[in-house]
Amino acid sequence: FDQLDGFIWMNGEFVKWADAKIHVLTHGLHYASAVFEGERAYGGEIFKLTEHTERLHESARILGFKIPYSVAEIDDACRVLLKKQGLLDAYVRPIAWRGSEMMGVAAQSNRINCAIAIWQWPSYFDPAQKLKGIRLDLAEYRRPDPLTAPSKSKAAGLYMICTLSKHAAEAKGYADAMMLDWRGQVAEATGANIFFVRDGKLHTPKADCFLDGITRRTVMGLAKDRGIEVIERAILPEELEGFEQCFLTGTAAEVTPVSEVGPYSFQVGEIAKTLMEDYYAAVQPRQAIAAE
Ligand code: PMP
Repeated sequence: FDQLDGFIWMNGEFVKWADAKIHVLTHGLHYASAVFEGERAYGGEIFKLTEHTERLHESARILGFKIPYSVAEIDDACRVLLKKQGLLDAYVRPIAWRGSEMMGVAAQSNRINCAIAIWQWPSYFDPAQKLKGIRLDLAEYRRPDPLTAPSKSKAAGLYMICTLSKHAAEAKGYADAMMLDWRGQVAEATGANIFFVRDGKLHTPKADCFLDGITRRTVMGLAKDRGIEVIERAILPEELEGFEQCFLTGTAAEVTPVSEVGPYSFQVGEIAKTLMEDYYAAVQPRQAIAAE
């Protein structure tokens, strides 16, 4: 990845991809004082860009630091970088972190850095598998109690258990893993939110200890537009037996149907397919829709 082409926006400047380096004593690396975003551009426009940038600022605020670039400045940098990279459909990764001026748990005077990288990332899950539904393992690690970790922040540190869970799932031949929360209720996948369908209604866990995804909220809106009822509630893993369909939502994952979660199986049904299509339509750039 460090060999890709083009530029990375770093602390206000466009630097060559290979030169966007940080010191090995970076606080963000040692103590996970880093927050990031994941966005997608479709047809040259970044979907819900400002919402993502606002979440980046909020994630940093939760971790006790202020990004020294305004939401408008970061939005602008993302747009300029997308053009500079010459990409229309791409993945956008802004990140902010505490620098290397002090070493130790405390890092009050470390510089807050910010960078943005943009590259081509066509599909998070194998496209052929996506249509058949992906298989999820049941993760061993659980999402922490909000009193144990800042669960509303898209903080790098929270991804430690996600990487462990995803690696364990892949080692067993699964595409991803479904994580429970500290209470033993269904939470989410390692980088995407989860929905179930029963009797024409959507059921999804309340986002009270994990990221309330921008895609999650978009898809809930799309379902409501179709007159599909959305029920946010505590879901126990035993209930999976009674659900007919299941899908994941996320910026990278978009809407991905799920065919299995551990011992439970699901059909790739009409509601999952419809919302997948509605989501593709919703993310298309506004100029393209206006020109139709
Ligand atoms: N949960 C986790 C752990 C994630 O990493 C993501 C992806 N950012 C999501 C949920 C979905 O969030 P969004 O729809 O905003 O991309």
